[in-house]
Amino acid sequence: MLNIDLHCHSTISDGLLTPIQLVERAALRGVTTMALTDHDDIAGLAEARNAAEAKSITFINGVEISVSWRGRTLHIVGLNIDPEYPPLVEGLANIRAGRSQRAENIAAELAKIGIQGSLEGAYAHVGERRLIGRTHFARFLVEQGYAKDVKSVFKKYLVKGKPGYASHEWATLSDTVGWIRGSGGRAVIAHPGRYGLGKNIWNDLLQEFYAFGGSAIEVITSSHTPDQVQHFARHAHAMNLMTSCGSDFHGPGESFFDLGQLPEFPAGCTPVWHDWNHQG
Ligand code: AMP
Ligand code: MN
Ligand code: MN
Ligand code: MN
Repeated sequence: MLNIDLHCHSTISDGLLTPIQLVERAALRGVTTMALTDHDDIAGLAEARNAAEAKSITFINGVEISVSWRGRTLHIVGLNIDPEYPPLVEGLANIRAGRSQRAENIAAELAKIGIQGSLEGAYAHVGERRLIGRTHFARFLVEQGYAKDVKSVFKKYLVKGKPGYASHEWATLSDTVGWIRGSGGRAVIAHPGRYGLGKNIWNDLLQEFYAFGGSAIEVITSSHTPDQVQHFARHAHAMNLMTSCGSDFHGPGESFFDLGQLPEFPAGCTPVWHDWNHQG
């Protein structure tokens, strides 16, 4: 088991635990190094870092940035970022600014199939209003009995081709990798198995990501099958990219892996932390 977890969410974005509760859970579960990677926001980092230091956990400043690339949404994790780097701070503020309008659009789409009150309903589940997102709508839909859990919501609603979908322009891939790199961090393609990219498009993404200065692929994550783990490990190796791992934990019962419960990398991977000094 790996006791390093470099991808998880707090109430700052769409997690269910506050940054402090998240760190406490990680400590109880034997995590020794962790990154908090809230969507498009870094407001939880200082609090989480203090809590982690009190528990002797090595804390990595992280973020998960929403990107639009060729008409698709991708997530890029930044690790070891400087949360005060102005282009990153401004870039994230711009991404967040689009979320409230998008939430209205989602609510309007849901109203078309007779689901009323979803905007207020989603906001009732959000920690920070500026981070309103699909998970909050999903929790509202579960509460109203439209699906049994959050995962099932995303099979019927809120995704392209289903009710409650609203398209949205996030940041560009080149800006995102640029902010992360510019702030001294490493950019990681989060959960690549989730995007359903065909071979050619995936290769294009890898080439572009590499050319922009991307560093790693998230190989171990709750959403990958064992075959996908092997597959993406091979691609990382072939492209000379490092590998990362994270539960993508959002709350108890909401992700396949809990904090610090991750399987080891396949042989031949170069972990994204291999040259971080404090890993000693
Ligand atoms: P947003 O950034 O508002 O588009 O919301 C994206 C979030 O929705 C992701 O970070 C996940 O937390 C959640 N999500 C998306 N697809 C799924 C899925 N298939 N199962 C569970 N959660 C999902
Ligand atoms: Mn999420
Ligand atoms: Mn993600
Ligand atoms: Mn995530």
